[in-house]
Amino acid sequence: MKVAVVGTGYVGLTSGVGFASRGHDVVCVDVSPERIATIRAGRAPFHEPGLPELLQKVIAEGRLRVTDDLRRAIAECEVAFITVGTPDGEHGIDLRYVERAAEDIGLALRETGEYRVVVVKSTVVPGTTDGVVRRAVERASGKPVGEFGLGMNPEFLREGAAVDDFLQPDRIVVGSWDSRTEAVLAALYESFDCPKVFTTLRNAEMVKYASNSLLATLVSFSNEVAALCEATPDTDVDVVLRGVHLDRRLAPIVNGQRVRPGIVDFVWAGAGFGGSCLPKDVNALRAYARERGITPHVLDAVVAVNSSRPAQLCALVERELGTLAGARIALLGLAFKPGTDDVRDSPALAAARVLAAGGASLTAVDPLIRHAPSDGSWDGLLTVCESATEALAGADAALVTTAWPEFAELDWKSLCPTMRRPLVVDGRNALRGVEWPADARYLGIGRVPDPGSIEALA
Ligand code: NAD
Repeated sequence: MKVAVVGTGYVGLTSGVGFASRGHDVVCVDVSPERIATIRAGRAPFHEPGLPELLQKVIAEGRLRVTDDLRRAIAECEVAFITVGTPDGEHGIDLRYVERAAEDIGLALRETGEYRVVVVKSTVVPGTTDGVVRRAVERASGKPVGEFGLGMNPEFLREGAAVDDFLQPDRIVVGSWDSRTEAVLAALYESFDCPKVFTTLRNAEMVKYASNSLLATLVSFSNEVAALCEATPDTDVDVVLRGVHLDRRLAPIVNGQRVRPGIVDFVWAGAGFGGSCLPKDVNALRAYARERGITPHVLDAVVAVNSSRPAQLCALVERELGTLAGARIALLGLAFKPGTDDVRDSPALAAARVLAAGGASLTAVDPLIRHAPSDGSWDGLLTVCESATEALAGADAALVTTAWPEFAELDWKSLCPTMRRPLVVDGRNALRGVEWPADARYLGIGRVPDPGSIEALA
């Protein structure tokens, strides 16, 4: 089938490459000339394991092209996906990019007499596809829906595992305006072997929000348990949650063997959720609820707990140091989770802002991030270092903000003596297995910190 994908971010490029590797002919469209040039050269504009290799393969096979010529892409395709960003807006989700893409597709449809299916893959609140998107396409094309197909196909891929997730999805959810649309999308996904849900446009939109909101809720629940443990002597959140994980409804016993479903990884304490999806999707659903006169009690609490996490970690550092003013603190991790270089809504940056506001100066190290962004948004906030050695030298404390396994493998016995004060606050409990030198002070989360303080070390 001939497929156009409008927007070549994590979702668009991975989907385009994925469809191409499944034998479809794909044209990816973007408005960014730099992005187009990068992809044409066989490089992914972001870190995603396996993506560059597969991209180069499908380009070489002639199955994927990249262009800024949307009209031609629409003229040649049978299905057009909208995969542009849907950032947080002032009042909920910002649909500007989706509407613009829908209009552009509509203008291109005006020039073709043939049936095309327009599919929203961006995450949009219920009612958007048969509202903003349908109206934009109808207005620009001069055709009523039905003369073109309209679908909604949310994407569930995880950054860091995006290629595998796209090619071996846990589910495919397809919402359709009519049976003709559904038939085209069923044919497109025929070779994918997984449960498929064919449903209404609004169910498809809601599934995505409900899924992400559940994950966010589990993270905040776990962080609330961590806060309770921090106030309860002789408790340890890791032990408590490991006990919770053994509930057979979370980890069933199948043929005498424990199965460990991935959802269990969300029932774990840390620095809070971040990234380009959970925070903005939870906020979008909250705004959507309020527009409908519903108070989203659970989601409001999820956000309140999450927003408080970075400050709680910084308070732990401050309590140990006595003051943040004049302190030098090394952040271990900038990405919102290991395996990606995405820093959108990263708890690490939220913590950096709190520490900087308290008067600390910051160094940072992350295995995938070697430079501050060129837009200058980190200027004056932190210095990105090449190595942990550089970031930790002379530091008064290290704060672990991303659970990169590399940090647990560092040679702490050599690194701690290079710090001005060998204090490590582990916001992800990722370094618990490390053997610390005798004079180092290591503090995890979700336990009452022991009464010793860094002053005792001085
Ligand atoms: P992104 O911001 O990484 O990429 C969006 C791309 O769209 C950019 O390359 C931009 O230049 C391009 N673009 C914007 N307007 C355009 C237009 N009119 N025509 C052509 N190109 C245009 O976005 P993303 O992270 O891939 O997310 C896209 C959507 O998918 C969002 O709604 C997001 O919530 C959802 N989603 C993201 C993920 C994820 O892990 N990133 C997972 C599932 C769903």
